[in-house]
Formats: sequence, C-alpha cells, structure tokens
Amino acid sequence: MGERPFAEEDSLHEECGVFGVYGAPEAAARVALGLHALQHRGQEAAGIVSFEGNQCYAHRAIGLVGDNFNSADIIGRLKGDMAIGHNRYSTTGDAGLRNVQPLFGDFSFGGLAVAHNGNLTNAMTLRKELIARGCLFQSTSDTETIIHLIALSREQTVEKRLIDALKQVEGAYSLVVMARGQMIGVRDPFGVRPLVLGRLNDAYVLASETCGLDIIGAEYVRDVAAGEMVVISAEGMRSLHPFSPVPPRFCIFEYVYFARPDSVCENRNVYETRQAIGAELAHEAPAPGDVVVPVPDSGIPAALGYAKASGIPFDLGIIRNHYVGRTFIEPSDQVRHLGVKLKHNGNRAVLAGKRVVLVDDSIVRGTTSKKIVAMVREAGAAEVHMRIASPPTTHSCFYGVDTPTRDQLLAAQNDVAAMAKLIDADSLAFLSIGGLYRAVGEARRVANQPQFCDACFTGEYPIALTDAENTMTGSQKDLFLRVAEV
Ligand code: AMP
Repeated sequence: MGERPFAEEDSLHEECGVFGVYGAPEAAARVALGLHALQHRGQEAAGIVSFEGNQCYAHRAIGLVGDNFNSADIIGRLKGDMAIGHNRYSTTGDAGLRNVQPLFGDFSFGGLAVAHNGNLTNAMTLRKELIARGCLFQSTSDTETIIHLIALSREQTVEKRLIDALKQVEGAYSLVVMARGQMIGVRDPFGVRPLVLGRLNDAYVLASETCGLDIIGAEYVRDVAAGEMVVISAEGMRSLHPFSPVPPRFCIFEYVYFARPDSVCENRNVYETRQAIGAELAHEAPAPGDVVVPVPDSGIPAALGYAKASGIPFDLGIIRNHYVGRTFIEPSDQVRHLGVKLKHNGNRAVLAGKRVVLVDDSIVRGTTSKKIVAMVREAGAAEVHMRIASPPTTHSCFYGVDTPTRDQLLAAQNDVAAMAKLIDADSLAFLSIGGLYRAVGEARRVANQPQFCDACFTGEYPIALTDAENTMTGSQKDLFLRVAEV
C-alpha cells in the first residue's frame, strides 16, 4: 500500500486507524495485531488502553506498532478482555506523546478512553469556549474536546453523555470508545471515515478496515452505518441512530488511496474498485504506450486496471525499496533532498526505449510525479505519458487528511497543460470526477446530493468548516488555510 512517499512535506498525510475488541481473552494482544494491519493509516504513534473490571491499563508510544507493542511484557501488562487502540498520524495537534491516543479521562462514572479517526471542524471554536468555562486541556488534539464535553454533560449514562457531546461537534469522526463494561463505536452523521463491525466467536470487534479483522481471524459482520452508534456490553449489541439523518458522504479518497487494497469498505472491495478506476482512466485517457508502469505501491491496482482495459502490457518499471523508514528520512535535510531515489529506482530492463504509460493514484504537490518522470527518463524511456487515477486534487481536506494548503496543491495552481510541463511528461491526464463515480458504481448526484465526500476534488464540503471560517479574513477565505493550534 502506498505510503508517505518521501519527506513529510511532499504529500498528503494519512489519517488514523482505530481498533477495539470486547469480550476476548488477551484483548490487548489482538488490538496490537489489528493496529499492525492498520499501520498504513498512521505511522507516527500508537496506543492501547485495556480494561479489566474497573482498572484501566495504557501504553502509548511514538513509532510503529511492531516496534512498540512487540513484547509479551508490554502486552501482558495491558490486562483484560476489552481493549481499544489507535494508530496516529497527526492531522490536528502536535506530534508529542501527550497527543497519542486513545485519550483517557477519569470521570465521576469511572474511566473512559476514546480513539478517533477523522478531524473535528469546530474543535478550536469549542476549545476556546471550554477553556473560558475553566476546562484544562492536556493535549492539543481535537479529540480532547469530546472528553471535556462528556465531562460537562448533565446526562446520566456514558452513552447519553457521549451523544450529548457529539451533538455539539462538527466534522468527521469514527470513534471507538470504552468505559467500564462497554465498548461503543460511532460514525459521524455523514459517515466520512470508515468503521466496521466484526465478530470473533462471542467477542465483538470494531476496526477502521476489514484487513484489521482478517489478521485476528474475526468475521466481518457489516459496516457501522453513517450516524450509527453501536453499544456493546454484556447484554450484547444495541444499535442507535441518535443524530438527525443526512445523506451519507463516505470519503471517496479511501478508494483512491487510503484504504488497504484487501479491505472491503462500504461493500466494495478496494482492490477491485482501484482496478475499475484504472479501467475507467484507460477509457477516458488513452495513451500511445508500449508498457503500463505503476508508481509502486499505491499505483499498482489502477495500473493493472489500465493495462487490462487498454491491452497495453503491464510491467514493473519502477522498483520500490520497502525498507525506507521515516526515521531514516526525517532527520536531515540532505537525506530529505535525495527524495525519491531512496525509495524508488527505475528498472532499465523494462523502460529503455519504451513509450511508458506511468500510472499513479494522485498528484498532491507534484513532487513525486516530477521525480518519477525524471527517473523513468533516466532509465531510457522514449516517452512518458502520466495518467492519474483520480481527478486533480484542488482543495484541502478538513475531515482527517492533512493536505497542504491550496497554494501548495499543484492542481489548485495550474491547469493540466501547465502541470504536464512542470512534471516534464509528454502528456498528462487525470480521471474525471464522473469517471471516478462510474468506477465506484454510483451517480455523482442523487437528488442533487453528491454520493461521497469528494471535496478534495470539487471543493464541495459537506460539513461546516467552522474553525477555518472563524480564522479567515476576506482575501484568505478561498485559501482554506489550516488553523494553527491555540
Ligand atoms: P505529491 O508528491 O505531493 O504529488 O504526492 C503524491 C503522491 O503521494 C502519490 O504518489 C500518492 O500515492 C501519495 N499520496 C497521496 N495521498 C497521500 C496521503 N494522504 N499520504 C501519503 N501519501 C499520499
């Protein structure tokens, strides 16, 4: 699965992965495995909180799951048959340990832990109000707002307090919440971010993606629906719909890039969907090529789909080094500037003398494309025709994907011809928004409502951008600047 290509500033950042197990022995060990399968959703930090009776145990660490939850000692200390975990990539808040989730609070009713995938769009506004009311924030994470709203709620049960809190927040959230004797999964009314429900014998599992269920041998039951809250306890599972219903808007970029290809999101296998996207791209944007070459790994399924639909042979013209870790990339600017060469190399045997159709899933800043095109040329390609398996990314995401501001998005600043020049491709084409919807098998609008959140491609934001708007002045308004932490 594609990863952050080179250095942090070169691309969008992935969001987070959440996982929970209720009612299985050694729940924390299973959560660690689930988080490992969801590692592609966030590599910055990971945490697990477990419950045994009234007692909570927590371990949080910066780095990969496999590097931090690898000893029987650590896992053994996370006792109990219920546990939740989180993989973090910071979209809001700094990267310090205090922001590593699950966040935990000690309430009058006992401990409560929250793992959040998504991004709240009015967290800053609420935070200011809460601070004025005397709340002391421990982190800079938007998720902490939910903890304070739960604490202030006058409702009597955890479930009702959570509903009360969530009715005040705006934005995208898939949450796994744990309190004494219960685990709760909930998706925001638009269902922007994914969350699935599974069973492992008598136990219940909640996961961002089905690949997290597979790794522990859990059975996929269904997606938690947009706006649905599932409450799991000794009595079994209850499903509630506490919010006013709105037409769901699942993030279409999960299919383009985020989700792991072996996952099933909203009843679509991601790998098959990506191949369909590639096939649609081949129909819309044929290229005079001898070979279809993916930018690995994220471009592979779409390139396969393109090759099958166009009849042009598929081949691995770029080889990826899988051992490039973030720690190696980040520390020095010198290393950073080596950029793509650390991670990819042109395969001359495939590329020399060929007219290459190069397929990648998306262009964000254009850094990857520029370097990869140069690399393919260096390896002897006669022509390079770049094909992108999504529409131009023209707008920032405020719902959990840390995109750069519009001034840094290549497609927000240039038309396709100018982009082709900038990346030095003989031709460049993107999939149309209509083509993307055809590939996922939906009409773009039903009753005038887009069927997905496609704001990064269209600028049509389904959920209010309260924080962003509160901090904008007239001329900045269409830049949708990200909000600085207070
Ligand atoms: P850029 O180099 O800024 O144009 O980024 C585009 C590259 O980043 C493509 O190869 C994508 O596979 C990859 N990409 C797209 N979205 C993300 C994301 N959210 N996190 C990390 N990489 C991404």
